[in-house]
Amino acid sequence: EVSKPSNFIKTIIRRDLEEGKNESRVHTRFPPEPNGYLHIGHAKSICINFGLAKEFGGKCNLRYDDTNPVKEDVEYVDSIREDVRWLGFDWEDREFYASDYFEYFYECAVNLIKKGKAYVCDLNADEIRKTRGNLKEAGAESPYRNRSVEENLDLFQRMRNGEFADGERVLRAKIDMSSPNMNMRDPVIYRIAHAHHHRTGDKWCIYPMYDFAHGLEDSVEKITHSICTLEFEDHRPLYDWFLQELGVFHPQQIEFARLNLTYTVMSKRKLLTLVEKKLVSGWDDPRMPTIAGLRRRGFTPESIRNFAEMIGVAKSNSIVDYGQLEFCLREDLNKIAQRVMVVTDPLKVVITNYPEDQVEWFDAENNPENEADGTRKVPFCREVYIERDDFMEDPPKKYFRLSPGQEMRLKHAYYIKCEEVIKDAEGNITELHCSYDPASRGGWTEDGRKVKGTAHWVSARHCIEAEVRLYEHLFSTPNPDKAPEGMDFTANINPDSLKVVTAYAEPSLAEVEPMQKYQFLRVGYFTSDKDSVSGKPVFNKTVGLKDSWAK
Ligand code: ATP
Ligand code: MG
Ligand code: MG
Repeated sequence: EVSKPSNFIKTIIRRDLEEGKNESRVHTRFPPEPNGYLHIGHAKSICINFGLAKEFGGKCNLRYDDTNPVKEDVEYVDSIREDVRWLGFDWEDREFYASDYFEYFYECAVNLIKKGKAYVCDLNADEIRKTRGNLKEAGAESPYRNRSVEENLDLFQRMRNGEFADGERVLRAKIDMSSPNMNMRDPVIYRIAHAHHHRTGDKWCIYPMYDFAHGLEDSVEKITHSICTLEFEDHRPLYDWFLQELGVFHPQQIEFARLNLTYTVMSKRKLLTLVEKKLVSGWDDPRMPTIAGLRRRGFTPESIRNFAEMIGVAKSNSIVDYGQLEFCLREDLNKIAQRVMVVTDPLKVVITNYPEDQVEWFDAENNPENEADGTRKVPFCREVYIERDDFMEDPPKKYFRLSPGQEMRLKHAYYIKCEEVIKDAEGNITELHCSYDPASRGGWTEDGRKVKGTAHWVSARHCIEAEVRLYEHLFSTPNPDKAPEGMDFTANINPDSLKVVTAYAEPSLAEVEPMQKYQFLRVGYFTSDKDSVSGKPVFNKTVGLKDSWAK
């Protein structure tokens, strides 16, 4: 395998290995909260964490950060497992759940209370926010801050026992109400929520907050490098504080810039809004930036991994051009997609000098990039369909496709020449009458005359109907998070992001398995959808043929 480019995280890891830190182990984790489907941003994090483990001979855990029961669900747990596996990563038996550590988190909280480092506070959420102060002004200490250890232990036990209502009390760390870092101003570490948890059921009615739980999860699993996004940089002192106060194994938190992509929103909350408001067909709608959506659209795991490698790992936020993702996709599809002929906007052509009852079967190569993919038979007869825009009645100079009196090559078949244009009463072109040159079989002639244009086509007697779903970006602006005054991001939805057409396809496409990758010659890359039925395939447009982004 080629050596991968370095980045600042690898530099840190190399130094740690040289110094023999953590017995020279490398152990990372990917810690999703199961409150939605994974998106392309998560894919970056997955590739980084699993990639580092692989490169340095270490391990990477899949850990569900399931500490917030109200928003979590087993549907999400299952989808996450499927998506990480599909991306090509393996966590073996290291699938963990933060909820399995609830008893341990509780003990840790009790230890903090015993050390005088945590207290039960009766202020409500609003009061806590108001007394927190701001960057210019120190916060006010809670009137409950100096409760005795005994009273705190008793109240915390009673919180656990379910004696209080949601929001009535919280447990707070006792740190510093005048810290310049707001996260250190006595953060809440436990809250009351009488909510059913998808794994622990009704066993708990208090749940730990993210900042408290996350470091402990890392610590329990002996994670060496805890990699997270930049927003958590200001939380690192708190991460370190908990682990130091508790005197437990201390992983190193390292922050990197999250992935942002043009024409996309990438927060689970917003993606959930799209699903709930039925602005898309579901989490796996091919226009969604979710891994499930990208998969259904026709992305390959390789293309997503290559993309993650190409954008690299940086310390400052930026927005990546969606075209870069498509570039990686096209590169991979060009290698693997089976070439087929499908006419998406048909115009009938009658070849008047071709024998009425004759049918020929031409050999067509499946993939010029890979000879091993072989050939298939494509039928040809007197009536074929070509794309409507491969004909022009009144063409400009240097038009090499079909026009009156001009020849064009039908891929794999013959040269045809347009002899007559047939129109209806309104003057719309309904069909073309052409002649063919029997000596041009296979697409060339002995006389070596130049026929520049080559078109795809299907036999009108053999083709089948296919439903083709043509997609554009889901949003019409490059930065859809920025909404017009008084509106939310859904105001930026592109009303034309899906167009469905009936296309005519060569008969080899009558029976397709979902997720097969095709290049419709001259049209684009397409992937068969799970909605396909026998004799009536459905295809999603994956990406166009042309590059809009150059390396
Ligand atoms: P979102 O903000 O989209 O709702 P999240 O950060 O709340 O996502 P988690 O399930 O907590 O979602 O994330 C799991 C891991 O994926 C975290 O380590 C997080 O840092 C990382 N991650 C999430 N979004 C991105 C992104 N856009 N780019 C890179 N990594 C990301
Ligand atoms: Mg989260
Ligand atoms: Mg988030």
